[in-house]
Amino acid sequence: MDTTRLTITELQALLRARELSTKDLLEEHQERIENVDDHVKAFLRLTPELAAEQSAAADRALKAGEAGALAGIPVAVKDVLCVRGVETTAGSQILRGFRPPYTGTAVGRLFAAGAVMVGVTNCDEFAMGSSTENSGYFPTHNPWALDRVPGGSSGGSAAAVAAGESVFAVGTDTGGSIRQPAALCGVVGMKPTYGRVSRYGLIAFASSLDQVGPFARTVEDCAIVLEAMAGHDPLDATSSDRANDVRRDFEAGVKGMKLGVPREYYEVEGIEPGVKAAIAKALEALQGAGAEVVNVSLPHTDYGLAAYYIIAPAECSSNLARFDGVKYGMSDQDAANVTDAYMQTRRLGFGTEVRRRVMLGTYALSSGYYDAYYVKAQKIRTLIKRDFDSAFEKCDAIVSATSPTVAFPLGARTQDPLSMYLCDVLTLGGNLAGLPGISVPCGLSEDLPVGLQVLAPQWREDVVLRVARAYEVVSGVKAEVAPL
Ligand code: GLN
Repeated sequence: MDTTRLTITELQALLRARELSTKDLLEEHQERIENVDDHVKAFLRLTPELAAEQSAAADRALKAGEAGALAGIPVAVKDVLCVRGVETTAGSQILRGFRPPYTGTAVGRLFAAGAVMVGVTNCDEFAMGSSTENSGYFPTHNPWALDRVPGGSSGGSAAAVAAGESVFAVGTDTGGSIRQPAALCGVVGMKPTYGRVSRYGLIAFASSLDQVGPFARTVEDCAIVLEAMAGHDPLDATSSDRANDVRRDFEAGVKGMKLGVPREYYEVEGIEPGVKAAIAKALEALQGAGAEVVNVSLPHTDYGLAAYYIIAPAECSSNLARFDGVKYGMSDQDAANVTDAYMQTRRLGFGTEVRRRVMLGTYALSSGYYDAYYVKAQKIRTLIKRDFDSAFEKCDAIVSATSPTVAFPLGARTQDPLSMYLCDVLTLGGNLAGLPGISVPCGLSEDLPVGLQVLAPQWREDVVLRVARAYEVVSGVKAEVAPL
């Protein structure tokens, strides 16, 4: 039995029947990491001591009949989520050596459900990027083609799951950073409704857009992880106390459902013919299962990218002001005075993309330009939200490609930030409008994975999961572990 290919559901059955021990399960994943991670580079650091402790605790809970839904299951955690005592750096040199004194809520809840943390995954610095090449450490490689990117910013988490290094992983999605790498690595990745999962203990990028969510190899596994993480948290004022019954119609199928196809999403700049073909085939499969495909329009799609790349940098310029070399991580001790110390620490600690965004955001928020840029971007955000509201009057869910392209070669877009920003064109609308969304594998183009995106109205994770599950069933397309 190779446990690195199994799902949470399958593993729970084995663990509970005593046919598998939490120790063997953990060791098999650690061995897999040892064998493949020199090539994939999904992990920034491993956490063997924490894993051993959690694995033993899960074993005791299983024996006592008190095990949670994730008892003994290996998880990889993106380097933006604080874990007590574990170096957490947001993929940045500026936080090198920072060990949070507390564990954030979402990850804490996974631990409470019995999950076993195997390590910290690589990501773009402060989650800014679409390829994990903006990491302050090293790039991650796509397990399906090692010379290509895994997507980003949660590329390490997506790659860890695709490579069989962890059963599931945690990422964050501000403009697409869970869905896009899930698509490029051929796994399932889900962004919950804004407010579904607490952001307490998440190193902030753009607070009005950030959401924590799962990567896994099945839709059901994603749902199980989401249920464990979600729910109201008094430590995050934007977290909601809505009911968490996201699996209520999980196996209900799509018969009679209306699936919206926005023309603008099928004609975006740079969309590859192979991606279009895979999505067309997915639509046929869903129609075959009884769904009705209806045309809808999201007329402000063209402005989404521009609005996002004002709002996200504006929020990041404010959120990142705290990294001054005084409170956390790196500190330039040789500066002549305090201003120089701030400037030098930030110059050395932040990479190019982070500095670019801080400058863009500071400019957009400056007096004189605030109305022209920030306020205008917020107005567009409202128009985009309204586009979705009207589209959802005509359909239950929106389906499209997750990414206009398959995984591209490492280095192909690093010199041209605009071409990198185009990766998010199909995902960031969901963040601007606060919607739940998922990416599920839907076949190949040029032998590389393609992702199908499903978006639904706010708080309708049940619809997202139902459609994604129905697709998984009718298509028979499964997330596989890459043969490394
Ligand atoms: N690629 C987008 C960006 O660079 C989205 C990142 C994210 O979702 N964290 O901002």
